Amino acid sequence: MLLRRLSWLPLLAVFSWSLAAAPPRANLRGEVMILVYHNFGPEARWSRSLANFDSDLSRLESAGYRPVTLRQYVTADFQLPAGTTPVVLTFDDGSRNQMKFTAGGQLDPDCAVAHWVAFAKAHPDFPVHGTFFVNPGTDVFGQRAFIKPKLEMLVKLGSEIGNHTYDHPHLNALPPAEIDREIGLGQYDIDRYLPGYDVTSFALPFGQAPHDDALAVASSWTGAPGRNAAPVTVRWRYGAVVLVGSGPAPSPLVEGLKAAHLPRIQVFTPEFDKWMTYFERNPARRFISDGEHHAPLSLPARALASRR
Ligand SMILES: [Zn+2]
Repeated sequence: MLLRRLSWLPLLAVFSWSLAAAPPRANLRGEVMILVYHNFGPEARWSRSLANFDSDLSRLESAGYRPVTLRQYVTADFQLPAGTTPVVLTFDDGSRNQMKFTAGGQLDPDCAVAHWVAFAKAHPDFPVHGTFFVNPGTDVFGQRAFIKPKLEMLVKLGSEIGNHTYDHPHLNALPPAEIDREIGLGQYDIDRYLPGYDVTSFALPFGQAPHDDALAVASSWTGAPGRNAAPVTVRWRYGAVVLVGSGPAPSPLVEGLKAAHLPRIQVFTPEFDKWMTYFERNPARRFISDGEHHAPLSLPARALASRR
């Protein structure tokens, strides 16, 4: 009898191992976190310490999250291992400590991008695939001479560059012509730094939409981009427009996703922990990949179709 019982043990061991190894069941209707970082430095309401950023990356990776850009998320244009969950890391305002170069033009280890690059080296399943929203009229990472090589490096790493207007105004307080100028000039400068690059994501400054929020999705601007410059016409049709707060976003595969009003989660203590814990306690709410590639709608039809 004892022998008979023992003979089951290896089978049980194999069974429980396969349970442990089996990926969580796919849930393509689950929610996705679009995180937003601003400054890096001493931990504060709008600032994340680099040590906490390191632990964010580590916690996300070990909990089965895998980074995708906002563009990839909104079009469901990603293929992640079965059982993992997409997460979007966005970075607003081109703050200095997001990306620094040394005087010699190398990535300075003391910045968020360098920390992520180092993390990705040790964890190739968590590559530097983020979305960086910049305001070319104010400051793009603080070192004017290095704006172009920094943007080029981000694109090369697989990250995305998004428009955040020219100089970060309150769009809900501006007349339509000024809104067009703010978005158009921001777009124009990104085009100048990255000729031919297709900008498809836009972040509303302060999360405030214009009264006619269609302007943030698709419009155009004609004007002189500088003193004595010849007038230019800039057109945009964005596929994803993000707000500032305040919770997880729907699955990109659900009908009626409001791609022109996507919520984000601000990363600071204790907000990040709150949402990580929320998905630990409510695993059924979390998007879980089935390992397949799904691409339901091309840009910018996604945002234009769900503007209202
Ligand atoms: Zn901003």
